[in-house]
Amino acid sequence: MKEFSSAPLLWIAVMLGFAALPILPGVPDFWITLWDYIGIYSLVAIGLVLLTGVGGMTSFGQAAFVGFGAYTTAVLTAHFGWSPWLTLPVSLLVTGLAAFLLGLPTVRLSGHYLPLGTIAWGICVFYLFGNTAALGRFDGISGLPPFTLGPISFVDSRAVFYLIWFCVLVAIILSGNLLDSRTGRAIRALRGGSQAAESFGVRTAQAKLIVFIYAALLAGLSGWLYAHVQRAVSPSPFGINAGIEYLLMAVLGGSGYVLGGVFGATIVTILKDHLQSILPKLIGSDGNFETIVFGILMVAILQFARQGLWPFALKLLPEPKPRRIDKRAAPLPRRDMPQSGSLLLQVEKARKRFGGLVAVNDVSFNVKAGEIVGLIGPNGAGKSTTFNLLTGVLHPTSGSILYRGEEIAGRPAREVAARGVARTFQHVKLIGGMTVLENVAIGAHLRGSSGVLSSMFLLDRVEEERLLREAAMQIERVGLKEHMHKSAASLALGQQRIVEIARALCLDPALLLLDEPAAGLRFGEKQELAALLSQLRSEGMSILLVEHDMDFVMNLTDHLVVLDFGEKIAEGTPANISANPVVLEAYLGGVE
Ligand code: ADP
Ligand code: MG
Repeated sequence: MKEFSSAPLLWIAVMLGFAALPILPGVPDFWITLWDYIGIYSLVAIGLVLLTGVGGMTSFGQAAFVGFGAYTTAVLTAHFGWSPWLTLPVSLLVTGLAAFLLGLPTVRLSGHYLPLGTIAWGICVFYLFGNTAALGRFDGISGLPPFTLGPISFVDSRAVFYLIWFCVLVAIILSGNLLDSRTGRAIRALRGGSQAAESFGVRTAQAKLIVFIYAALLAGLSGWLYAHVQRAVSPSPFGINAGIEYLLMAVLGGSGYVLGGVFGATIVTILKDHLQSILPKLIGSDGNFETIVFGILMVAILQFARQGLWPFALKLLPEPKPRRIDKRAAPLPRRDMPQSGSLLLQVEKARKRFGGLVAVNDVSFNVKAGEIVGLIGPNGAGKSTTFNLLTGVLHPTSGSILYRGEEIAGRPAREVAARGVARTFQHVKLIGGMTVLENVAIGAHLRGSSGVLSSMFLLDRVEEERLLREAAMQIERVGLKEHMHKSAASLALGQQRIVEIARALCLDPALLLLDEPAAGLRFGEKQELAALLSQLRSEGMSILLVEHDMDFVMNLTDHLVVLDFGEKIAEGTPANISANPVVLEAYLGGVE
């Protein structure tokens, strides 16, 4: 956890002080009880931070998963006499299964259909609890046993405090580990839309489902604790109102920070407690007036502090130390490169139609291994669309694309990437909140294999060091070493394009597709880029380049393909092309 590493002594002091709270003389019971509930809610909020803040999926239905956890243990302990400890794995299993079934259709929804979907099943689950006879309908189930451990009974709010906050601490550490890993980067990459992530081999649908289930499991754990602290369950704490409150905690705290979830749960719970006692007196009648305040608060946060309040608290702490790169980590294995001069890419009559527009019209050309081929043409000629066809982002309407002799047209982007085709985007697709290093490391996704569990329990560290070392090497290679630990968004746009090249190089590609890499670069930077691309070519890399700067293109490329209105109007050596009257007319504007 970055937050912990920035001031370890401070955090140890805070935790010890907090742990002493229940045994300090004079601390009133209701205080401890309040902190018990803050801990229980924090678990849900941490899950929502990962789901909504990090993964970009807003869920109003999280309280439903708290309900699955709570009802499972309620039924098993109150009706079947199980021990609460035995029900924990069952509660998690039921919640996980429910999350899997609800998640499958939900994560496929895009835009605001996704939050709407969560509202829909949030309401369904609430009425399911309320109308099921075996679950006691709207009266719920009472008479749950308290937690006991040998002679210790957790009936007392002071004893259960430790159990709850132990769970919270474990959740904080595991979630922090998860985010700071290969899988975590895949989850964080979801923010930038699926296109870039898929182009580096991330299975975005799977990553979404993983974080959805992970968040639900934390909610299920929360429900299990809640049931035995309350010693009773009924549907109302698991409805859509509760779901909105959980979301408020995550958003208010800090939607991208694990500790922000705890922070948000603390603020909302304490505020709610105060408002519930003050507002009815002020207004002079009973009612849930705090809900109105929370609504206003949510809108204010979304307007003025999108990142929540935790970043403001973080500013008071010293800067966390940048991630250390282990220079001795073993280099990652390399792909065997195609033989220089062999046919690498054969595009045969590729066509892409968007409704009535034929954006790419039966275009054919080849790229040989070890060549830099330029794809030029006026704006709207179909260059970026061609790139999308070659990388599996779009599938051609007709035609064929052979890569190393294999048909890749129609394959998904991540399968094309796995074969060694890497790209940059004309409209930069980096994750602004991640560092340059973390962004570039996404490029090496397919060169690692560690998953969720190994990340959470730090069993992925050897591989992780290797991936980060590779990323650091590529960043150095493109000349951005001093920016490695800055957030990607803090770089100039031209530099961000270079970061995209480093990310593409991390894939260890045999074919590199660069869409306007020199746009926004200064003269000196363009020369450095040209030198880098020549160097890559001499190492056996093949490059397909879209670029408008003609000096840059003419000096660098071996071969040029010219598009105009989706059609190939010429191809040949740079010298041929610059003398071609058709090209001069269409593109170079008839200049002598
Ligand atoms: P270039 O990169 O050469 O400037 P593009 O490949 O981006 O050109 O676009 C070629 C044509 O296809 C343009 O007319 C553009 O408006 C159109 N086009 C590109 N993408 C889409 C899309 N997803 N849907 C509809 N039209 C598109
Ligand atoms: Mg373009």
